[in-house]
Amino acid sequence: MNIVSTIAEARAHLDAARANGQQVGLVPTMGFLHDGHVSLMTAAGADCDVVMTTIFVNPLQFAAGEDLSDYPRDLESDTQRCAAAGVSVLLVPPVEEMYPEPILTVVQVDEVSKALEGASRPTHFAGVCTVVAKLFNIAGPCRAYFGEKDWQQLQIVSRMASDLSFPVEVVGCPIVREPDGLAMSSRNVYLEGPHRDAATVLSRALGLGAEAARSGETDAEVVRAIIEAEVGAEPLAELDYAAVVDARTLAPVASVDANTRLLVAAQVGPARLIDNVGV
Ligand code: AMP
Repeated sequence: MNIVSTIAEARAHLDAARANGQQVGLVPTMGFLHDGHVSLMTAAGADCDVVMTTIFVNPLQFAAGEDLSDYPRDLESDTQRCAAAGVSVLLVPPVEEMYPEPILTVVQVDEVSKALEGASRPTHFAGVCTVVAKLFNIAGPCRAYFGEKDWQQLQIVSRMASDLSFPVEVVGCPIVREPDGLAMSSRNVYLEGPHRDAATVLSRALGLGAEAARSGETDAEVVRAIIEAEVGAEPLAELDYAAVVDARTLAPVASVDANTRLLVAAQVGPARLIDNVGV
């Protein structure tokens, strides 16, 4: 595995691979890697000849007061995980490499960015899109793997790639969960004791909502209320939103069908958690 810190080195490796007729896979991450991240690398490795994982805690996507300075990091463990997953190139750029001067260009995807996470974190998706656009330009023509864990992000990045004609095929990968249902997340490290137990309420609430929908409940408000009530019954969880939306546009729907996605966000002690499920 080649561990590189500059854009030029990353490009050189991937350009050489493509010159040899090889397909490139890209897995952007913020590090502190867990099995969810590894599943993206495994999917990329199954489809592509050369996989580049990036680890970059992108300051642009954190608002003031969020956990940028506390965001967990463990480069040694991350490096081992990437090597074990068959990654060819690990790009770990310092902030000065990505943003040598204050960035003046912002990539913003309208509509689909506004609600849900966008409402709670108004500058977040512009930061995500700007760095992902940069990473797409660094990687060049490739397949890029993103987790369904961040469902809204996946829709936004797919739309950005298509709107701006990036030579990138965005591939979504299923959510990897802990045995008790909690969606894996680097931020789960913030959860201890009772908060860790309480965190299972998100997947449980979504499960109840999805079960109702699969049993024939078509009223989106009824399904939404089931999720809201379950999270509301957990004293250590503070609901941010429970939403029943069109899976692609993220617009609220009145009735549930196969294109509906259920999403939830809640604060559980020190961690803000998100989760979602299809019906
Ligand atoms: P992050 O490091 O949190 O920015 O995540 C990097 C990528 O890993 C994103 O595409 C996430 O959606 C994906 N990811 C994070 N957690 C999971 C999970 N539990 N299952 C699948 N993908 C995940």
